[in-house]
Order: sequence, then structure tokens, then C-alpha cells
Amino acid sequence: METKQPKKIIPKKTPIPEQDPAVRRTNFEEVALGYSSEQAVLEASRCMQCKKPLCVTGCPVGVPIPRFIKAVHDRDFGKAIEIIKEANLLPAVCGRVCPQESQCEKLCTLSKKFEPVAIGRLERFVADWERQQGEGKPPVVPAASGRKIAIVGSGPSGLTCAYDLAKLGYEVTIYEALHEAGGVLIYGIPEFRLPKAIVAREIDLLKRMGVTIVTNAVIGKLITIDELRERFDAVYIGTGAGLPRFMGIPGENLNGVYSANEFLTRINLMRAYRFPEYDTPVKKGESVVVVGGGNVAMDSARTALRLGAKDVTLVYRRSLTELPARKEEVHHAIEEGINLELCTNPVRILGTADGQVSAVECVRMDLCELDESGRKKPKPMEGSEFQVPADVVIIAVGTGANPLIAQSARDLTVTKHKYIVADEETGKTSLRGVYAGGDIVTGAATVISAMGAGRKAAKAIHEFVTVTSRLPAK
Ligand code: FAD
Repeated sequence: METKQPKKIIPKKTPIPEQDPAVRRTNFEEVALGYSSEQAVLEASRCMQCKKPLCVTGCPVGVPIPRFIKAVHDRDFGKAIEIIKEANLLPAVCGRVCPQESQCEKLCTLSKKFEPVAIGRLERFVADWERQQGEGKPPVVPAASGRKIAIVGSGPSGLTCAYDLAKLGYEVTIYEALHEAGGVLIYGIPEFRLPKAIVAREIDLLKRMGVTIVTNAVIGKLITIDELRERFDAVYIGTGAGLPRFMGIPGENLNGVYSANEFLTRINLMRAYRFPEYDTPVKKGESVVVVGGGNVAMDSARTALRLGAKDVTLVYRRSLTELPARKEEVHHAIEEGINLELCTNPVRILGTADGQVSAVECVRMDLCELDESGRKKPKPMEGSEFQVPADVVIIAVGTGANPLIAQSARDLTVTKHKYIVADEETGKTSLRGVYAGGDIVTGAATVISAMGAGRKAAKAIHEFVTVTSRLPAK
């Protein structure tokens, strides 16, 4: 590969300033504080400006990474944000929550010998810089084509699909079941990782491009997919995978046991993090046990800590190596004092006579054989049972697809778990003119993969609508 070698490579990423762990565990303010201009320019100087940039191939929405980093290096931050927005409506979100270590940064040429360029931190810097300048410039939208597209779900997938279609001159309407747009970005990911105001601002840009967002609109109940199809030229379904899943162990119906979804929704959407301004009904535990090892489990544990818990224990059945949460979040959780009970699985939840949760009984797991995915398969170790006291238990072992849309659109092909079957490259479903993508197709995944699916579907919808418009009228 042809690369331009800088004179001297700085081996490590420029560190990002953060709130002190002892302070931040008591507040909901952002953990990472972002680069200053000087730090951003220094970090940008580490980019080798590869002629064939592999980092871009690792980004599901194809952000022109070396180009925007060059603009940062040249201190042309306005140009940098314009370049990012060619591909990404949500740079301030992606710069904060994307798992760059397994995407763009994993493929950075520098990472063969040194730490990769901190692409995520630079993306965040550019987006934050733009916010400090004022309300930001939406991309130029062409004259309305008269073609209408409906999008179901306002998570990152639906928002991205809307963005690309609006840029092509479509009249886009997003239908959202909740009273606020943003999907998991608003109701799931906590304020200390992704401030709500930042998400709202990026969504506002979409509104300024002419996209209509209808909230409190449950598609499948209020309007069916068939009805949308009659009113619109095409439909995109990006309804996510927000159906809570439990473990099926005894005691899950005790008071004080939450699904992570319910717990985080109460904190985020019902603003429990702004207590006492908002008096949200949510139990604040002293000893909290969280079950699971993904981002959702980490977010629940760190949120419980900030609500005032004295002890928060995360129970995960595999080892630290397999913990699926973003590395940075695991590091932050440990710094903040979350206890990790690794290679451990809950077997039952114990309660008091009046039905309140009191402890979780766990068993140690032996990681011996490999399972189908090539990971070590946890096996309970006989006689290793022990109890962790708890007055709140949060189950974060994954989510499933909400079956509502599938139930109301009978000809839509879904899997046995009710995920929509859609073409990976186009999002095309079994219904003509109906496309789908994001978690409702893949199962719980990442913000950027959901956005990537939205982009691919927008392109396919454009092709579909323009081809249909050329067909003779029936
Ligand atoms: P969603 O974000 O789930 O949005 C779907 C939207 O559709 C929702 O607003 C929902 O209300 C709406 N909807 C559902 N049914 C209907 C209906 N019938 N009618 C109308 N609207 C409907 N990913 C990362 O990359 N990094 C992270 O750090 C990270 N952390 C996470 C933390 C938590 C707590 C959670 C829950 C997830 C996290 N994820 C993370 C995963 C990521 O957020 C999801 O993969 C992503 O949001 C999926 O996007 P989506 O657009 O497919 O669906």
C-alpha cells in the first residue's frame, strides 16, 4: 500500500481529558470532556493520509476519514465538518459511542505498530466545534421531487435513511412510537455518555432539512404498513430490537427486578437523572446487581451507581476477554468502582416475605470447550454457588424484536424470532416498496451498523422510486 510517511510518528493516541472517576460517579455529566483545538491538531498530525485508506472501509457509512482529518490538521474545522456530513448525520453521536476499536481504528495503518489514530475523538471534536459556532448548516436540499417516503422508527437507522433521502429531494415523514425521537440514543444510552441535547441538536438538523417527525405514532396499531404503502412511494422500517428479554430463572418477578430497558428508559426518557427536578418512579438501590456484559449492562451499572447505590456488581458468565461492551466503557466502569463478578451466572433471585428482592444466587462458570461461535463455552461448576445481596437487580442479557409490525403486516417475511428478513445490500423486504434495516433486521448491534443499513436502503429506495416513476401508469 502506498502511504505518505510523516517525519516522526507519535506512538500513542493523544489522551482525552476526562472527569475524575471519584467525582463523576456521583454526577450525570459527560465522562470524556473532548479535545481542545491544539490536542485535535496534534492527533490529526498522526494520520499518515494513506492513499488507499483502510479506515474508510471499516466505517459502515463510509465517512471520508483521511480527508476530514487533513482538514483538522490544516485547522479548517468548518471544512472538516462539511466532509463528515457528506456521509454522516450524527457525528457528535458516533464520535462518542461508536466502537471504533473494532471498526475504523482497527484498520488504521498505524495500528500495526502503534496505537491507531483516535478517529472517534477527532470526529467528536469536529462536531463539538461546530456546535460551539452556532446552530450549524444543514446540507443543501434540492427542490422537492413530489415523492414521499415514510420511515418507521426514529433511531439511528431511520434518521440516517431520512437524511440521505432528504438530500435527494424526497419528502420524508418519520413515525416514532415514543414521545421523543432518537431511539436508543435517547431512551437507552445514558446522559454521561451521550448528552440528550447533543442528540436533539443532530435531529434538529434533519427537521431543518424539511423532514417531518410524527411522535406518539405506533405503526402497526395507529396505521398499518399497507396503509403507509398506499400513502407513500416507499416505506423504510427501522424499529430496532427493544423488546426486553429475561433469563427465565426463579425470582425474576420480585419487586426491584428490572429489565435494563425499563430501568434505562425510566432514567433517560423520564429524566430520573435530573432528580429532584423530575420525580421519576424508579427504585434507587443500595446494593445493585446487573446481569450481562454488553454496553447495556455497563450503562445500567454505571447509572445505578450515579443514582446513589453503595455497591454495584456486574455478573457476567464469561471472562474479561469476552466482555462484549466497548473497551473504553469497561475501563471507565472499573475506574468508577463497579465490581465485576466474571465467569459467574445467576441461578435464582431471592426475595423477602413481602416480595422484595434480597439477593442473587450465582454459580461460578468454568470456561472449557469452545462453542459454535469459537468462544469458550461456560459450564456451571458444581458446588460453587454463592449469594450476592441486592435490593435492585437489572437484567441486561439482550433484547428481541417487537412483533407488532410483523403481526400487522402479514405478508412481511420475518424469522422465527420476528426479525424482518431483508436483503443485506439493499434492505429490500418481501413486500414491494418496503425496506428495513438496523437492529430489527440484524438483532441488537451497533449505532453505526444501523446507520449503514439506513444509507444502503436510502440508495435502494431512490433506485426503486426512480425506476417505478419511469414505468407506464397502469
Ligand atoms: P433503535 O435505536 O432501537 O430505534 C428504533 C426506534 O423505533 C425506537 O425509537 C422505537 O421507539 C421505534 N419503534 C419501534 N416500534 C415502532 C412502531 N411500531 N412504530 C413506530 N416506531 C417504533 N451501540 C453502539 O454502537 N455503541 C454503544 O455504545 C451502544 N450502547 C448502547 C447502550 C444501550 C443501553 C443500548 C440499549 C444499546 C446500545 N447500543 C450501542 C446499540 C445501539 O444503540 C443500537 O444498535 C441502535 O440504536 C439500533 O438502531 P435502530 O435505528 O435500528 O433502532
